[in-house]
Amino acid sequence: MSAPASASYTPNTQLRYGGYLVFRNLIPSPMLEAQAADEFSQITYGAEHSNRLYADTDAHVTRVRSIVDKMIPYSLKWNERARNWKWDVAVVRSPDIRMYCLPGGKIVVYGGLLDRARLNDNELGMLIGHEIAHALREHARERLGQLQASQLDSSGTIPQLFGLADLGAAPLGIGSRLLEMKYENTDETEADVIGSDIASRAGFDPRAAVTLWDKLAQATRGNRDQGFIYVHPYTPARRQDIIKRLPDMLPLYAKAIGKTVDALPDYAGMGRPRRKLAGD
Ligand SMILES: [Zn+2]
Repeated sequence: MSAPASASYTPNTQLRYGGYLVFRNLIPSPMLEAQAADEFSQITYGAEHSNRLYADTDAHVTRVRSIVDKMIPYSLKWNERARNWKWDVAVVRSPDIRMYCLPGGKIVVYGGLLDRARLNDNELGMLIGHEIAHALREHARERLGQLQASQLDSSGTIPQLFGLADLGAAPLGIGSRLLEMKYENTDETEADVIGSDIASRAGFDPRAAVTLWDKLAQATRGNRDQGFIYVHPYTPARRQDIIKRLPDMLPLYAKAIGKTVDALPDYAGMGRPRRKLAGD
């Protein structure tokens, strides 16, 4: 007795979408970037019409934009699509201490991050590098893919093209899910490493990552559901890892600002950590 054809059928785990080979349970990058661009338009439109969008000439916006502009050249090598991203920045009038970089390079900053968290430029630079790194490494796409895979399992159907063929219906509510997503520890590590590489090369002191995350943890840990530090889990191990990687990052920063590592001043009581050499 032979098994029914359907039982022996194993679907390909990879599909082609345009020129891209993608995993079946991942939303194609161009599609997610288009969704994110829509989401960004809605956020800026909504903010503008409730008088909550800072004008392009406002100091909140120019500060963020000048940092982002320095980062972009060092970001491109981490994602082959990034060269064609239409990077954009919006700063929303809000007490929230929060920011994100949507897939495709759309950056949204909430005013409280700038007005209440009191970050210096090095700290803000390390944070923007971290957020850009999440987008470059497509962590949201992975998390959404997992979500979608679990939904497909439970319903037992595989909608055409991952259920997103009809963008008008947006059955998975990608926009709102993007904003509610929580990163995993592995995402945080990767965003710390790549974000620090990008920001250090752009001339921001990597030691500021330590004071940055300490400040953000302090300022947002009261909001257990959606606080920034719960979206980006900050464990003692993660803090230690940031410190351990400083010997790799400091030379990039020193070079960016035209100094040697030895000539760098202390930062917030931190000296110039070095990699231990064999024989030390
Ligand atoms: Zn993160």
